[in-house]
Amino acid sequence: MLEVSGLTTRYGSISALRRVSLSVAANEIVGLIGPNGAGKTTLLSTVAGLLRPSNGEVRLDGRSVTGHSPDRMLRAGLALVPEHRRLFAQMTVAENLRIGGKIVPSDERAERLDEVADLFPVLKDKWATAAGYLSGGEAQQLAIARALMSNPRVLLMDEPSLGLAPVLVDFVFDLIGRLRSEGRTLLVVEQNATRLLEVADRAYVLRTGEMAAEGAAADLLERDDLFDTFVGGPNRPSG
Ligand code: ATP
Repeated sequence: MLEVSGLTTRYGSISALRRVSLSVAANEIVGLIGPNGAGKTTLLSTVAGLLRPSNGEVRLDGRSVTGHSPDRMLRAGLALVPEHRRLFAQMTVAENLRIGGKIVPSDERAERLDEVADLFPVLKDKWATAAGYLSGGEAQQLAIARALMSNPRVLLMDEPSLGLAPVLVDFVFDLIGRLRSEGRTLLVVEQNATRLLEVADRAYVLRTGEMAAEGAAADLLERDDLFDTFVGGPNRPSG
């Protein structure tokens, strides 16, 4: 469904990604893990159209979408939950959601709002609250809800559990499973590698801009060397 091949993305003279390839099949949960600065955010941002690659290709449903704008990617069915949420702090929860649903035909917007309100009940009570006043957990839920307003077939999530209380971390990983059972396809970046590998089908390990490993999530969970070398000791599964 989503294929990335030979992708190189630069910031000026620095190549943050070098000839990176990955694929995500329809209805799969694919994880992307790796240490800080490995290029995970750069990869998601390039796929979502926020950054232009200097080389390589992104294909969605077999068609090249390389370098398409974020709006075109949304219309093609791919949405991003960005790192650090990137909400419009002065705007209300409802306004942030309406922006997320701007590509949805007007007669379907109310239905989309109802659907995300059901998924994130905490947002219902905060409809008229400015996003800047939300707690970290509420803001993260709004960031995910905003991306879901466009009813994407493919959802890219960048560190969705970062900084959340344990109960909300559970909520986020449970949600990832529920979104897949609704038929969506997910590519997820997480520092919490163990939790991600427990919910993902397959995963890729990125290190200093290059793909270092890939495989079935269950197999990668067993690979102590990955946790020691690439992902970092604290993420190691216990027991
Ligand atoms: P983290 O887990 O810390 O978010 P990451 O794996 O998502 O890391 P990226 O944020 O994609 O990594 O960064 C990859 C490399 O690109 C790093 O060396 C980073 O310093 C560099 N980089 C990221 N954004 C920029 C930028 N706007 N300008 C210049 N260099 C950047």
